[in-house]
Order: sequence, then C-alpha cells, then structure tokens
Amino acid sequence: MDCIFCKIASGDLPAFKVFEDERVLAFLDINPGTRGHTLIIPRFHSKDLFALTDADSAAIMAAAQKIAPVLIRETGADGLNLHQSNGEAAGQVIFHYHMHLLPRWHGDSLCSPWTPGTSDSNDLQQFAERISRCITD
Ligand code: AMP
Ligand code: ZN
Repeated sequence: MDCIFCKIASGDLPAFKVFEDERVLAFLDINPGTRGHTLIIPRFHSKDLFALTDADSAAIMAAAQKIAPVLIRETGADGLNLHQSNGEAAGQVIFHYHMHLLPRWHGDSLCSPWTPGTSDSNDLQQFAERISRCITD
C-alpha cells in the first residue's frame, strides 16, 4: 500500500519522532500549524477513526495524554487542541488515521473550525433522541 504514514512507521521514510511504543508513533508535522504541532499515528494502517481498533484507539489517547503536557511545558503554550479529521469533506488529506496535537497561545493565528450557529431546542431534543436510539454498545 502506498501510504506515507505506513512508510514513516516502517522507517522507510524519515520523521522527526518524539515518542513511540509498540502500537503508536508520534512525530512533528512538517507543515506545523503552531510550534510543536505533533501527529500521533497507529503503527498498523487504519484509514480513519472508524477503522481503528479499540486497542489502537486507547493507545493513541494514552500517548496524547503523555505527550501533550510535555509539549505545553516545553513550548510555554497556554493550551492545546486535539484535532482529527475523517474523510475528505472533513479535511482529511492523509488516509492513515492521525491525531493532531496543536499547542495554542492566547491570540495565536489558528482559527476555530466552526462558527457558532443557532439552534432550536425541539430540534435538538428530537435529534438527541434519534441518535441515542441508534447508538448501540
Ligand atoms: P490531515 O489534513 O488531518 O490529513 O493532516 C495531514 C497532516 O500530515 C498535515 O498537517 C501535513 O502537514 C502532515 N504531513 C504530511 N506529510 C508529512 C510528513 N512526511 N511528515 C510529517 N507530517 C506530514
Ligand atoms: Zn498507512
């Protein structure tokens, strides 16, 4: 499979690694949104959130919890966003699951991905009931 992140995981392509364990690898984004912008990937190819195994999902979140405080401390950031895209419409460019860690500063130039809209409480209620009925364990 011609996947750039698989090649980074196998060592066939270089990366500026910051953390690795048996399941995940974390490395600096080559086009960082902010200083310290880091990506966490599963070693084994999963194209998106929906393909990710429970074990890889847990390993990625555990790695995020380990790496994020260090990024904040070492960059002097005021906060940090986790960001993760699924599908072209959502802005996914590389189809090997990755979690972005973006250190943030008060007044930095990153924008929120959404503009707050308005809502109707009846619509929210019906929608919440519909979705909750569809979610199974
Ligand atoms: P996404 O839009 O969520 O699919 O993000 C893909 C990210 O991968 C972008 O932020 C790119 O800058 C980053 N990226 C692409 N190629 C590399 C690479 N070889 N090493 C590190 N980051 C990369
Ligand atoms: Zn891959």
